[in-house]
Amino acid sequence: YNYTKKDILNMAEEEDVGFIRLQFTDIYGTMKNMAVTMNQLKKALDNKCMFDGSSIEGFSRTEESDMYLYPDLDTFAIFPWRPQQGKVARFICDVRRPDGTPYESDPRYVLKKVVREAAEMGYTMNAGPECEFFLFHTNDDGLPTTITHEQGSYFDVGPLDFGENARRDMVLTLEDMGFEIETSHHEIAPAQHEIDFRYDEALATADNIMTFKMVVKTIAKRHGLHATFMPKPKIEVNGSGMHINLSLAKDGKNIFQDSTDQNGLSREAYYFMGGLMKHMKAITCITNPTVNSYKRFVPGYEAPVYMTWSAKTREPLIRIPSMRGDGTRIELRSPDPSANPYLALAVLLAAGMDGIKNEIMPPESVDADVQSMTDEEKKRLNIEALPKNLMEAVSELEKDTFIQDVLGADLTAKLIETHKNEYHEYCMQVTEWEINNYLHKL
Ligand code: GLU
Ligand code: MG
Ligand code: MG
Repeated sequence: YNYTKKDILNMAEEEDVGFIRLQFTDIYGTMKNMAVTMNQLKKALDNKCMFDGSSIEGFSRTEESDMYLYPDLDTFAIFPWRPQQGKVARFICDVRRPDGTPYESDPRYVLKKVVREAAEMGYTMNAGPECEFFLFHTNDDGLPTTITHEQGSYFDVGPLDFGENARRDMVLTLEDMGFEIETSHHEIAPAQHEIDFRYDEALATADNIMTFKMVVKTIAKRHGLHATFMPKPKIEVNGSGMHINLSLAKDGKNIFQDSTDQNGLSREAYYFMGGLMKHMKAITCITNPTVNSYKRFVPGYEAPVYMTWSAKTREPLIRIPSMRGDGTRIELRSPDPSANPYLALAVLLAAGMDGIKNEIMPPESVDADVQSMTDEEKKRLNIEALPKNLMEAVSELEKDTFIQDVLGADLTAKLIETHKNEYHEYCMQVTEWEINNYLHKL
């Protein structure tokens, strides 16, 4: 759409909106919001709603703490699960300083900046995520657990699939909010699910991922369940990934396709992949930003471990789905749903553009099963592993000045600092594994 302020005022009136939530996302990917009543809608539309930036972790801490929320009118949506009189609507907002300049550590701004640079080169990136999550039981206090009594697996149906009703409700609610849901299914692990919505331009997709997570969590709660996007909540089963399908368009046409190429891919598609591969280690710090993210990168659970691409195998880092023509795309399989979607899409697009600008070819594709190769074979083929833990990923980000420039100096410094602290704290823990393995024999 292209809503004007007047459209919004009319719609809010017609729909009997009572509350408006002004949403934004902090640097760690957590949604924040401020609620205002209908009386304040005009003020909100005039970008006059303000909050104290110093109270948001990672946002400016000292000087310039006043921040203003600029609602993106096209993100106007009504929460279908809230009362139908005095409805609750929301806007996703940009964060700006009192003088109207964008706050450069606002993740949405970071993505917008990269999108604009790509547009200046004539490119639009489309992105389609495949978001997985678990539905666990809550305890008597309503707090989340990792307990499920479900034993469903890939594509199972009810009554084996306990999440069936919740998932159906999620899909219908998302459709109510304008999502085009392509598929939803039970995933391989007990209580694990996936709902895929249609791809869109990068900014819209990042907004959609934030809305998607909010809806999934909200509807799960109404079914007495806890939805978690934690990448690896259980050791013995699959983790949750958020594969991202990517393609570039020029003048509205998918330019990743080239029927004369043996893989059906254009030069731009190869360069884009080349850029992704070049920066992948630093990118991983953004697409996999938690200590827990790295518990997912282990063999045997359908998650990537090595940095290879293939049009034939199912489990490389970058897979080329069989779809050609207008559906030609690459699927990056490393991201997980704990990523901040704005920052993730920003670094992916920027890296891809770097590949195109500098004509970076990716390494040869690897169609064999990498996970069963010996170390010597991998070495001979120059196959490297993804970072093994958050600290390794942080060190890669510290080396990659290109990715740092995309994120901006301030945001980079904050991410590096908090991730390092988190990792140090984690390393100091004495875990159940250590007690079980050492206590009796040492
Ligand atoms: N759960 C797997 C992962 O961690 C992905 C499974 C799939 O291919 O859908 O990435
Ligand atoms: Mg899946
Ligand atoms: Mg996939």
